[in-house]
Amino acid sequence: MDILVLNSGSSSIKFQVISMPEEKVIAKGIVERIGLEEPFLKYKKGDGEYQKFTRPDKIDHKIALQWVLDTLTDKEIGVLESLSSIGAVGHRVVHGGEAFSGSVLITDEVIKALEDNIELAPLHNPANLMGIYACKELMPGTPMVGVFDTAFHQTMPKHAYLYALPIELYEKYRVRRYGFHGTSHRYVSQRAAELVGKPIEELKIITVHVGNGASVAAVKYGKSVDTSMGFTPLEGLVMGTRCGDIDPALPIWLQRKFNMTPDEVDQYLNKKSGILGLMGGKTYDMREVEDGYLAGEPDATLAFEIYAYRIKKYIGAYAAAMGGLDVLVFTAGVGENSPPLRELVCRDLEFLGIKIDKERNNVRGTALISTDDSKVKVFSIATNEELVIARDTYEIVTKEEK
Ligand code: ADP
Repeated sequence: MDILVLNSGSSSIKFQVISMPEEKVIAKGIVERIGLEEPFLKYKKGDGEYQKFTRPDKIDHKIALQWVLDTLTDKEIGVLESLSSIGAVGHRVVHGGEAFSGSVLITDEVIKALEDNIELAPLHNPANLMGIYACKELMPGTPMVGVFDTAFHQTMPKHAYLYALPIELYEKYRVRRYGFHGTSHRYVSQRAAELVGKPIEELKIITVHVGNGASVAAVKYGKSVDTSMGFTPLEGLVMGTRCGDIDPALPIWLQRKFNMTPDEVDQYLNKKSGILGLMGGKTYDMREVEDGYLAGEPDATLAFEIYAYRIKKYIGAYAAAMGGLDVLVFTAGVGENSPPLRELVCRDLEFLGIKIDKERNNVRGTALISTDDSKVKVFSIATNEELVIARDTYEIVTKEEK
């Protein structure tokens, strides 16, 4: 069965077609600049090269999805005979709130629950919903599954997810830590257990997902027990353009000092801070920051050190929270590709049993990077959220069919 995996953002739709159960990616791509001038589609078949297509008109999510479906079924460049060969669609959904602790078949009730969650994720859920509405219209009858970024973290205990705010804020408005990147934390913690050759139920694992967005999770015996992103994806680590942890009085100070509106504070902390802010607005691309760090440039070195230091603090905190540590995993754009970052984070953590092997660490993608005598096994693992979405979708729709 071919599964279409969709990740709809506010101005883009990422897609993959994955044949299940073989887990073979037969096509993938992205439509960018939805709602803007000069939208384009990048597409590739299997292991081929990317092709880029442009069009002159402004498009919405429905037209963008139609463009994807036309491309996938095109006689010359397509990979599908017809749309009916798509057995199901798996949607990445950012916020499942407290309603979803696992992936689900998308029904009208589920759509309603997601609409109710918009207040919790105003930036992400509306875009995810556009993808769902578009599929419903263009592929009526094809089952859809929702896979939530928050679901894996629904196992956190209350003492980890509640903030010390008046309790009615949680009771009436569900203000709490939710955590995100759950699909990635779940995938890499399972891969790590496979690589170690032990059941995940016996392992204390810390997963460090560092890409443009970044979060750490404490995965104890297969369950997320804490994670650094909170009520929104702004909390925790230093990110490309997000500040992560700051004194909660600072947004109030910004409002008073510069007469900022709530939206301006939101933009300031989400879009202008993090690495971009520390680099004086020059870049948030960690490749450039890493190059600057290696060349000894002062601003890049400082930004890189602050970025690594925050990760190190969370590793210490989560080792304490779990009462020990067996496996440490680095993943996502920066985690999989930056040996200097991993080296800096793990430096002086030998007291926790973490010893990096310099040679082994000089790697991209999936590999063991700790020494043979390191008590904690340290890995770089390539994450694969699309594969998890395809697996969950396949499992749910084949179960439904039985
Ligand atoms: P997203 O959160 O958007 O999915 P990714 O996981 O793709 O992001 O990560 C993107 C980040 O990974 C960018 O900041 C990019 O610079 C960084 N990155 C990619 N390759 C490298 C590299 N070789 N060294 C350091 N950073 C890298």
